[in-house]
Amino acid sequence: MIIFNHGLTGAVIALKVRNPFLALPLSFVSHFAQDLLPHTDYFAGKNDEHLFSRKFFVLLVFDCLLSLSLLIALVILFPTHRWLIWACMVAATCPDAAQGYYHLYLGRIKKKKIKFDPLSKFHYSLQWAESGWGGLVEIAWAIAGIFIILSLR
Ligand SMILES: [Zn+2]
Repeated sequence: MIIFNHGLTGAVIALKVRNPFLALPLSFVSHFAQDLLPHTDYFAGKNDEHLFSRKFFVLLVFDCLLSLSLLIALVILFPTHRWLIWACMVAATCPDAAQGYYHLYLGRIKKKKIKFDPLSKFHYSLQWAESGWGGLVEIAWAIAGIFIILSLR
């Protein structure tokens, strides 16, 4: 699933739960639950040439800018919960950062054979429903998540 939707889920959890001791672990677990759903992803993790293509970096930068825009909007809308929103958005997206560590740092920069840790292996095993039409699920969740957040104002 794209970074924006993982972050959006973290923000929804932060604003619904509001208890950091519950919201942070729930946000982290939400990443794996969302990757179980049909979704699309420009970071397919199957072809290293694709991972370092210009298209990949353009999509990654666009996704990160969209996610940052969401964070800024939420900090303005919910200033008293800004740190919890930020922390939950990070917790909900961080498993994908591990992919960057493995593929970019170890694989590309260090030129090492990638050996994934057990959590990352588990993370990859959840990507069974990654497809082009999964983009519809991503769009549906983006709309639903934004409506949920706006209803909490
Ligand atoms: Zn993931």
